Amino acid sequence: MSFSLFPDRKFQDVSSITPEDLRALGVSLLILDVDNTIAPYKTLTLETSVVEWASRMKSAGVSLYIVSNNKGERPEAFASLLGVPYIKHAGKPNPRGVRQALAQTGVPPDRAALVGDQIYTDTVAANLAGVRMLLVEPIKFTNIFLAIRYFFELPFRREKRK
Ligand SMILES: [Mg+2]
Repeated sequence: MSFSLFPDRKFQDVSSITPEDLRALGVSLLILDVDNTIAPYKTLTLETSVVEWASRMKSAGVSLYIVSNNKGERPEAFASLLGVPYIKHAGKPNPRGVRQALAQTGVPPDRAALVGDQIYTDTVAANLAGVRMLLVEPIKFTNIFLAIRYFFELPFRREKRK
């Protein structure tokens, strides 16, 4: 797989991703970013829509795994809410967290995807680990720096040309 800053697929939010989308990509392990992907910054709860989405994914045979750069309590709190394993303080764009999730589940990279909201951390980590990248829109800009970073990501916030 060649290195690219463009995601394989782009979605409005995680709840828009269906088991059929993953089946079309041959993906059976979906690695979840936390901040601004499954929940906005700071909150310790998940929207019902996200919990129900995760449950639909699992029923469809998709394994979920949280890999977050967050160092606080949120990765564990959300992992326990969803009943999925997690790695926190993952240091994306370093691919080690993603590789660890692959090793733990025994899923080969070409059967896995990462869903996240950022190019320079999530997409780069996914690429370096050789897994597919599904980009979502950030849930909420809680400060100006997030908005500025988003601006610099704009050229890459579209699907890779097939
Ligand atoms: Mg994020």
